[in-house]
Amino acid sequence: MPQPGLTEAMRTTSQPEGFGRPESMIECGWRLWRNAPVGKSPLSSVLECTDHCPALIDLVGGTSALGRFLAATRVDVVDEEGYLWVDDDDGTISICSSYLREGPEQEIIIDLVHELVHVHQQSQGRPLYDKRYAYVDRPTEIEAYAVCIKEARRLGLSEAQIVNYLRVPWVSAAEHLRLCAHLSLRVLPAHSPSP
Ligand SMILES: [Zn+2]
Repeated sequence: MPQPGLTEAMRTTSQPEGFGRPESMIECGWRLWRNAPVGKSPLSSVLECTDHCPALIDLVGGTSALGRFLAATRVDVVDEEGYLWVDDDDGTISICSSYLREGPEQEIIIDLVHELVHVHQQSQGRPLYDKRYAYVDRPTEIEAYAVCIKEARRLGLSEAQIVNYLRVPWVSAAEHLRLCAHLSLRVLPAHSPSP
């Protein structure tokens, strides 16, 4: 079961214009299967990487390694409201069916890249939810965001869109700025908290 605070991608703001065109995702090498059945199945039943993803290739150490990694990853489509997370015991990605069916496609793909980093971390025995760290300071989160931001840039998101992408409800305005600083993202005044 998901634990409070462990889901990802709970964004409240509407996405900027240009965010999430399905045809552009296919051009960029991703295919998302929104009608994947509820239950556990290989990752490819939800997400296929039809070309390559340089950020993930760098993470796992090569194109062949990425192919093996993706083929070994399991996904669980769960029939409940929410978003997505990784089981820190077995590395399965859970994704809520409502989000998969109705969420912005580009955002779901970036979220899945983020979760794939957690799957890789879990395979290396790293704890995903180390409570010694605040969410925005946790090394596993910073690495996951760094990798998915690389992919977000490849998909054409602007820096402002990426800053907005990091704005999640369980993170305060100050924590959001701290996360952006960890990731060397420049926050324009419009995104800064009021004085
Ligand atoms: Zn995460």
